[in-house]
Amino acid sequence: MTPLGALLAKRIAATGPITLADYMAECLMHPVHGYYTTRDPLGASGDFITAPEISQMFGELVGLCLGQAWLNQGAPSAIVLAELGPGRGTLMADALRATRDVPGFHAAAQVHFVEASSKLRALQAQAVPEATWHDDINSLPDLPLFMIANEFFDALPIRQFVRDGDGWRERMVGLQDDKLTLGLSAPAPLDLLSDRLADTQAGDLVEHCPTMPAIAQAAGARIDRHGGAALIIDYGDWQSLGDTLQAVAEHETVDPLEKPGVADLTAHVDFAAIAANVHPAKHTRLTTQGVFLERLGITNRAQMLAKRLSGDALDGHIAAHRRLTHPDEMGDLFKVIGIYPATATPPPGLEP
Ligand code: SAH
Repeated sequence: MTPLGALLAKRIAATGPITLADYMAECLMHPVHGYYTTRDPLGASGDFITAPEISQMFGELVGLCLGQAWLNQGAPSAIVLAELGPGRGTLMADALRATRDVPGFHAAAQVHFVEASSKLRALQAQAVPEATWHDDINSLPDLPLFMIANEFFDALPIRQFVRDGDGWRERMVGLQDDKLTLGLSAPAPLDLLSDRLADTQAGDLVEHCPTMPAIAQAAGARIDRHGGAALIIDYGDWQSLGDTLQAVAEHETVDPLEKPGVADLTAHVDFAAIAANVHPAKHTRLTTQGVFLERLGITNRAQMLAKRLSGDALDGHIAAHRRLTHPDEMGDLFKVIGIYPATATPPPGLEP
């Protein structure tokens, strides 16, 4: 058992089973043993690799998308350019480089990062020294908000419920023979899931992310009040159904209870639940990452970059383009939703 596993087993023995959300929060953000607090999980040597780490084109196009959205809204003279969960800061560094030639954009933009891990904050400071850091979205300055969140929402802890009649049994992490094990609470009706009675039947499993609504509401309210746009990019679907909790260590899928604090834990993002919280701002329809990047011109950009490359570097570049866009790779699994003011046009690439 990992050191965190031993701590959790002790806690559960003393006070009883915990929700999956509590378990996930401890695994990811425990101050001493948490997955994100103790390591840099990203990149080829880490446990998983994200789009901005695959190719500079990803951050460049996201940056240009937000730069164009800023122009479309009349180029306000002071804005917050924010990222939720910036990882190594690669995406924002690429976005800033790509938008150097958008006249006035850099003079208007202050870069703000929302990041919980001090380890990753240190890496982000190397990539984007001028950034300002926040523990959550609520302390961002009250200005037009141009925001990106890539693979952020999938890292937020989820609870899981199994339908039983018109009630729900929650999946809880308990102990059996000194080992962490999943069990089910007694069935109870749940206001939280009243909207899921229509599309589920007995035995179905649904997931609920308790910290997401406040974040989506804050982003929607700011964008409605001050202007701006948000791009939320992640794996998931319009509405999630079934168990999507996934643990990954060293690029391998493992049992979510096996290596607490050592394996990354994620769940698919329920985009309908995000969309339901952004009112009075508007949201775009859900678009695949492949279509979004193609519409923003990734193939042109890839061809331009290819001119300067040869040999292995060229092969790697072609593979990266394919990995980001092809339906068999990240192109279809990853989705994008945009948030924008009711008075503005949708961000580029996400038009209906
Ligand atoms: N966006 C980056 C990193 C994705 S990993 C990329 O695409 O490469 C998830 C990121 O979200 C990490 O930076 C992690 O530390 C951060 N994170 C996870 N949960 C968080 C929370 N509750 N509050 C703030 N940051 C969080």
